[in-house]
Amino acid sequence: MQVPEAPPAQKISLISPSLYEAVRACKAKALWIRFGPRDIIPETPNVVLGITFHKVMEAAALNQPRSGNDIAETVRSIFDSQAQAAFGRAHPLLRGKYPTKEHLPHYFLQRERAVAVAVRFLHPMPGTDAGVHTPEAESTNQSERTFTSSDGLITGRIDWLKAIDHGIFDYKSGMVREGEEYEVSDRERRQLLLYSYLAQENSVEVRKGTIIRSNGTVCSIDITPHEANAASQEARRMLQEYNNAVEEGKGFNEMAEPSKEACWFCPCIPACQKFWQVQKDDWAEFEGFGWHIEGTISQLSTAVLQGLVVMTFTLKNCAGTDIQEGAVVTIEQVPTSWISPDPRILPKEGDIVRIVHARKSYSESVDVFRVDKALSTIWQVLPADDHD
Ligand code: SF4
Repeated sequence: MQVPEAPPAQKISLISPSLYEAVRACKAKALWIRFGPRDIIPETPNVVLGITFHKVMEAAALNQPRSGNDIAETVRSIFDSQAQAAFGRAHPLLRGKYPTKEHLPHYFLQRERAVAVAVRFLHPMPGTDAGVHTPEAESTNQSERTFTSSDGLITGRIDWLKAIDHGIFDYKSGMVREGEEYEVSDRERRQLLLYSYLAQENSVEVRKGTIIRSNGTVCSIDITPHEANAASQEARRMLQEYNNAVEEGKGFNEMAEPSKEACWFCPCIPACQKFWQVQKDDWAEFEGFGWHIEGTISQLSTAVLQGLVVMTFTLKNCAGTDIQEGAVVTIEQVPTSWISPDPRILPKEGDIVRIVHARKSYSESVDVFRVDKALSTIWQVLPADDHD
């Protein structure tokens, strides 16, 4: 796959909690998330299952599974149909790696977790203490509704607003940084405050924000209207800062501010020139940041292993996370179906490639890497002239 081009700088008129986080970290990341060619970057299996988890919780909050005698079985069936839909829409490279949705890593475990979470939080069984299904409670339950501030600058889709309890809930299925699983992280706190502000602007007072993780972990914070207002002011300030940068004529590269905190799992790593240019010592081991390598293919061999065609590359003039400038590294046994959805378009000697999320082989004394089925992608960098 060819490295996609970064989008031209454009102003953002409306900021959401996820865009706010992106602007805080790096304005180029926000530009990419709002205007980038996101369909070009393959989803990870976790993203597909995360979308499915959200859909299951949405359906459960709207009481769809009530009609079935066995709630768990109904939720399971919703999970299967939503996963099928998300898998069907996924990037061809992901579908090339995994022949069916059931082949996604931990599919059945994730399904059972979703069932357990939906039953526990949204459909308490008879005899439990959380009887939410009174007519009054249901009339104030709102799921996956988009709210916008009165000045039209802040927007957000609240996963579950339970007005009768003055509570909002946000479902999380993504990676959690070490030590943050059992508490609301700073990032999640900012999101909950912005959602609370939006609810407030729409006449619902929120006093508590809760994160429900797909593994069943739950954590909450108390919220005051003052804190929610302050968060909204900060979001407006960041939006203005971003738009000022666009007005000053800054492009994607000038807005990019690489750091291991900002670039951690940033979707635009393959396309971000600044990321590849900066020195990245001590980045690979930072909270699972991983190995990201750019180099020129100096040698390439092909073999068949267990029925799979695999390629081994030697890369010269390398750079990357904890890669010594100019180093030579080997990328071993990459199945061609993990490189490109089109078997006619594969790397060749002399190509410059970027491997995102490689896996280091610690058993070797020289720099040998493999690829990770779920995370790795391989990109061909066009020479500068070919971009014109
Ligand atoms: S890779 Fe890093 S520098 Fe580049 S856009 Fe993403 S966060 Fe910004």
